[in-house]
Amino acid sequence: MLLSSATSSLNPQSLPFLSFSHSISLPLPLLPNPCRPTHFPSFQINCIDAAQPFDYESHLKNHYIQSTSLKIAILGFGNFGQFLSKAFLRHHHTLLAYSRTNYADLANQLGVSFYSDPNDLFEQHPDVVLLSTSILSTETLLQKLPFQRLRRNTLFVDVLSVKEFPRNLFLKYLPPDFDILCTHPMFGPESGKASWAGLPFVYDKVRIGDGENRVKRCDKFLGIFEKEGCRMVEMSCMEHDKYAAGSQFVTHTMGRVLEKFGLESSPINTKGYETLLNLVENTKGDSFDLYYGLFMYNQNALEQLERLDMAFESIKKDLFGRLHEVYRKQLFGDNGEMDKKMNLPQKLLGNGSLIEPPLDNVRQDGS
Ligand code: NAP
Repeated sequence: MLLSSATSSLNPQSLPFLSFSHSISLPLPLLPNPCRPTHFPSFQINCIDAAQPFDYESHLKNHYIQSTSLKIAILGFGNFGQFLSKAFLRHHHTLLAYSRTNYADLANQLGVSFYSDPNDLFEQHPDVVLLSTSILSTETLLQKLPFQRLRRNTLFVDVLSVKEFPRNLFLKYLPPDFDILCTHPMFGPESGKASWAGLPFVYDKVRIGDGENRVKRCDKFLGIFEKEGCRMVEMSCMEHDKYAAGSQFVTHTMGRVLEKFGLESSPINTKGYETLLNLVENTKGDSFDLYYGLFMYNQNALEQLERLDMAFESIKKDLFGRLHEVYRKQLFGDNGEMDKKMNLPQKLLGNGSLIEPPLDNVRQDGS
């Protein structure tokens, strides 16, 4: 933008070599023209974005991007792999992907180089290999990856929703020179669709070599989530699984139960009911493989499922116990003696309905 306070007839095109990044004042040259006044006031040019003979700004920007960007190879370009890659691209990282399904067109649209053979992908020598496959397929995949085609100290990262399982597989299958970072972004395409700000990101630096470059590479990767505003939580894989079984697995289970139950929106939804509808919305997009993986590969999940079951039974028992009391009082009046005599075992059918007391068979002495 070029502004002149003295003359509007001054053509900016006629000043190809003048470029200013700040406001400056210039006296106009005195020209031998008798019609011109002998004195001109100085005029001011405010030039904030005139073309530079050498574009330092974009040069510096490119230099900065190159020094901070990573070449990241995503293995498993499904629901979550695609979701993550969009964020990585926003941070100017170079993205490559491999998946058993051919996602070449979609990857192309996003700006991701797609490889249908992991050999070709690994020959591109990515800085980071990120595993975003289903929990169930992780071991089979790791067993057939051509690690020898990668650079000797590549960083391996996983985003699986269970942590001890991939940690142990990485330690078992990866060459000893590889760095290992186990992570769990605790959000998905639905819950993190608007922003990642404040959402928890769990990580465990399982094995990061001492070299400055290796430490920096890991920090750069974690930096993506930091810059997105995630709440960074460093904790061991074991701790993660303990907490996640009590929170994430229970959340998914309740979401699935309510989905099967068939929740429907109504014109008089309460806030609580909206929360339930959101829960179903947040969990129903996830594959059953993912849910099954949470159950199979987190040793704490079975215990949590049993606790849930017991809690549900206990609540039903409280409800039906009260109902039974009212029912008896209606039948026999408020007679404590009769209550003692009629102390029949309460039984619940498998579907939760109460078994009626067999009154016809009760003898007068209550036995
Ligand atoms: P998913 O059903 O857990 O995994 C789907 C991915 O696994 C796809 O890329 C799929 O490849 C690949 N895959 C499945 N079976 C395979 C096999 N036999 N061989 C090779 N690849 C196989 O769904 P997801 O939501 O995309 O999750 C991916 C990972 O991210 C999981 O480990 C999950 O725990 C984790 N995660 C997910 C979320 C989330 O909200 N979705 C959040 C945090 C972490 P193709 O598509 O090529 O078949």
